[in-house]
Amino acid sequence: MRLFKTLAGLRTYLASVRDKQTIGLVPTMGALHQGHLSLIRCGISEVDRVVVSIFVNPLQFGPQEDLDKYPRQLETDAQLCESLGVAAIFAPTFEEMGVNRTSQGATEPEFYIRQLIDNLEKLGVSNPDDLLAKIITPNSELLTPNSGTQVVPPPQMLSVLCGPFRPGHFQGVATIVSKLLTIVNPNVAYFGEKDAQQLAIIRRLVKDLNLPVVIKGCPIIREPSGLAYSSRNQYLTEGQKKEAIALYRGLQAAKQAFLAGERQTQVLINHVKEQLTPHSDIKVQYIECVHPQTLQPLDTIETAGLLAMAAYVGSTRLIDNMILRLRKPIIAIDGPAGAGKSTVTRQVAKALNLTYLDTGAMYRGMAWLVLQSGIAVEDESAIAELVSQATLEFIPSPDEQPPQVIVNGENVTQSIRTPEITALVSPISAYAAVREKLVSYQQELGKLGGIVAEGRDIGTKVFPDAEVKVFLTASVQERARRRLIDFQSQGEDNINLQQLEEDIQQRDYQDTHRTLAPLRQASDAIELNTDGLTVEEVVNKIIYYLESSS
Ligand code: AMP
Repeated sequence: MRLFKTLAGLRTYLASVRDKQTIGLVPTMGALHQGHLSLIRCGISEVDRVVVSIFVNPLQFGPQEDLDKYPRQLETDAQLCESLGVAAIFAPTFEEMGVNRTSQGATEPEFYIRQLIDNLEKLGVSNPDDLLAKIITPNSELLTPNSGTQVVPPPQMLSVLCGPFRPGHFQGVATIVSKLLTIVNPNVAYFGEKDAQQLAIIRRLVKDLNLPVVIKGCPIIREPSGLAYSSRNQYLTEGQKKEAIALYRGLQAAKQAFLAGERQTQVLINHVKEQLTPHSDIKVQYIECVHPQTLQPLDTIETAGLLAMAAYVGSTRLIDNMILRLRKPIIAIDGPAGAGKSTVTRQVAKALNLTYLDTGAMYRGMAWLVLQSGIAVEDESAIAELVSQATLEFIPSPDEQPPQVIVNGENVTQSIRTPEITALVSPISAYAAVREKLVSYQQELGKLGGIVAEGRDIGTKVFPDAEVKVFLTASVQERARRRLIDFQSQGEDNINLQQLEEDIQQRDYQDTHRTLAPLRQASDAIELNTDGLTVEEVVNKIIYYLESSS
């Protein structure tokens, strides 16, 4: 593992690997715990080289906050990273990152404004936090002098949750994360759902600034007690740690009510409060329910709500949250070619009365479009232009008929099943713009859930929050044997088993090494080896995984 403290060192190292390998970035402030390690593990399972940045960012600390006492333990962190297989740590100094040690995010004027708002609150002014957000965000450049170019997230994402209580914080985060993304230029960057507001702001930043990186959100990792791991847990006494469990209990109580049918956010918030009030050492700063992506406050949960809170336990400020989702489950089935994915996926969908998302039919639809247009298959940029403007509709059939596929208003369900399209679909689906178009369409369809899909990166890229992720595999010998039986049943007897095994090995190599959508096992996927199992047994196992996940 390499440790870099300078941009020059890191950039030179990355330049030497970038052409051939994919890069993942895990931005952290160090003092690594199980939460950070889960992001690193997720990266290791998905990309070739993981870079962990360790930088205690002064721009995101207010003047009253714990910048000086924030835990720093580079040596231990480096050992942990090395043991997980991290390629490089980037631990720059303040100067190297171009920030002034004293230019903390919330500068003096902001601090006085905070005090002013507190006083307004005491005088009974309603919504003083909204007022604060209004004062701070439009004028933020006036309020953060001497701190260089700043990245300002949209005001409506700052006026909720932690925003009003940590003026300048998300601007500091957005500024440093933008710098890190530019310096490392990773294919994927990993962030924890623990900091849900930060995650939503960074997704929005990447979208608005058209940064060429995939932002991956990873689930909250908790101690066995339910307390979410945090570097700040180090400040808690044993007694406070026990009290802090009430935060998770509150979220769980709200989830129970939600599962029982409660949709009013105020009622759900009251369930959290009920769990917290008996604890005199816990001072709630806020409990709110907002839309998980836009962060807009919700009165009722239509499809999903982010229930989030901040509370002081003693003098330590902790945050926690839970996404309450009203949707049918998604089952993502990935795995190597020949493991039986498509048969199993169709049968699981049928057994559970869910939609089989035939992604192959969608790629066929795009291949049809290219063929119609007369554009040469090698002309990638013209194809990108054509496909990104196309409209696509996918209508699943209730029976076992193929789904209806409508491209630019034309029903192409029949015309996509020709040998010409079959030959074209593979080169077309290797183009990044085509994949991007279809992945975002598939994600749109997935918003309401109720989907079973198979592929190479369904669990890692298309539906990373699927309720069940299965990595379906079988040994090379078993897959070759099954293929041989298929050939024989079609009357072809002249097939060499050893040749089939070699072909499968070669295909596995290609699938795991392609730059676009390589085959990867999601870190939270269940590996299911189908050697010696019947299709029915495999389907039953997957149904069992779903039942035990809820
Ligand atoms: P920090 O070092 O606190 O800036 O956190 C670095 C990254 O780790 C952020 O993306 C956090 O959301 C993530 N993270 C922190 N704690 C947890 C946790 N308990 N579970 C999952 N991710 C976490």
